[in-house]
Amino acid sequence: MALRLYNTLTQEVQPFAPLTDNTVRMYTCGPTVYDFAHIGNFRTFVFYDLLRRWLRASGFQLDHVMNITDVDDKIIRNAVAQNKTLDDYTAIYTKAFLDDCATLRLEQPERLVRATEHIKEMADAIHKLEEGGFTYKSDGSVYFRIAKFKDYGKLSHNDFSGMQAGARVDVDNYDKDNARDFALWKAAKPGEPAWDTEAGHGRPGWHIECSVMAIQYLGATLDLHAGGIDLIFPHHENEIAQAEALTGKQFSRFWVHSEFLLVEGQKMSKSLGNFYTLRDIFARGITPEAVRYLLASVPYRKALNFTFDGLNSARTAIERLRNFKFRLDSAKHLPEGVNPKIEEHATRALAGFRAAMDDDLNTAEALAFVFEYLRDANTALDGGDFLAGNLAGANALLNQFDSVFEVLTPSLSTDGMSEANIEKLIAERTSAKKARNFTRSDEIRAQLLEAGVIIEDTKDGVRWKRK
Ligand code: AMP
Ligand code: ZN
Repeated sequence: MALRLYNTLTQEVQPFAPLTDNTVRMYTCGPTVYDFAHIGNFRTFVFYDLLRRWLRASGFQLDHVMNITDVDDKIIRNAVAQNKTLDDYTAIYTKAFLDDCATLRLEQPERLVRATEHIKEMADAIHKLEEGGFTYKSDGSVYFRIAKFKDYGKLSHNDFSGMQAGARVDVDNYDKDNARDFALWKAAKPGEPAWDTEAGHGRPGWHIECSVMAIQYLGATLDLHAGGIDLIFPHHENEIAQAEALTGKQFSRFWVHSEFLLVEGQKMSKSLGNFYTLRDIFARGITPEAVRYLLASVPYRKALNFTFDGLNSARTAIERLRNFKFRLDSAKHLPEGVNPKIEEHATRALAGFRAAMDDDLNTAEALAFVFEYLRDANTALDGGDFLAGNLAGANALLNQFDSVFEVLTPSLSTDGMSEANIEKLIAERTSAKKARNFTRSDEIRAQLLEAGVIIEDTKDGVRWKRK
């Protein structure tokens, strides 16, 4: 069985393969770096990671582009309020985002591209759209005339034909009932950072950045474009309108969208205030692997309700897997031979895991195959029925599992010791020293060292770093 993915454009699960050669040209919408990303955002980024890994497991090579949106209304508002340049402001959250991705073991796309480094290309594209008669100007801004693009609505499967022509919208995000001509280029308001281009004095709208950078790096037609479901309309609908008006070719063959991370039935989001950043989560002593596992374990097209119980179950599941691996690694004196029942189960589980992943990345079903095998194999180990010849099959299954989920190796940096705990111990050591309880203060230093944390006493206080 080969990989099949649900395509939002056709509303069908379809066999997936790249069009021209063995390389998948894919674009995923990246973060807007105006603040720390929350774990709702990371559900989508974990989904991109699973998709990458399974595309590669399917034998394809990847050319994956992801944007960093480093100019938008919120970024400008915050940077101006903090008296920072756009670059200084976005550098902080870009770095935080990349650090978080590394902590969650997310593979880096082949190219990470920043919007502000492609302003000229965007202005050129807007000019070309202008020449094609797809735009009009108003108060220094340039708008895309959606009535001119006959396929408008084909991705979100909406009929916009009866819409009032000429009504405009300046904000980047709006709902279907408010479909309007959208801004390609926004005239600068006084005091805002702006660029001088052929399109005027101002900055690009959000939608144009993705169309332009995708085409620049991947060509007119992508194999796959992905994002969270909130991006289907208007963002991806607008990306299609701009790109197809520019090239006259189909923009992306597959559109793949991940469902939300919810909190008590509502989308986790900044605006609702019901969000956790990774920093919030790690401060509670929860490991990155537990977060990764939880986000990966529910198939991407199912909404996932976030709870701390869910994170706890993820931790327990990881422990079971690690214990099993430990049992395999430390089983030195297994009897010779192969237990055919266990071997058959390993083969079946491996095939089942792959078939489930091929079936639109059904991670829940893939996991069920692994755990069913684990139960069987653990019982066999207890009863002496697991033989030396069964090790290879067990390891093959675990390796296949971990090539996708990647949770078997504990994180060095946060395993067992969160930043909050480190700070707490350092404070305790400082009071111990003050009370001249050097036994205790040495004990704490050793404990920290054991956890990979080095402390240094300086005249400004205690500094620490991880080994
Ligand atoms: P933003 O930084 O707001 O542009 O969002 C980055 C990505 O996170 C987008 O692809 C969104 O679709 C996605 N996203 C935002 N909130 C959630 C959520 N609660 N669950 C899953 N994905 C989300
Ligand atoms: Zn985008």
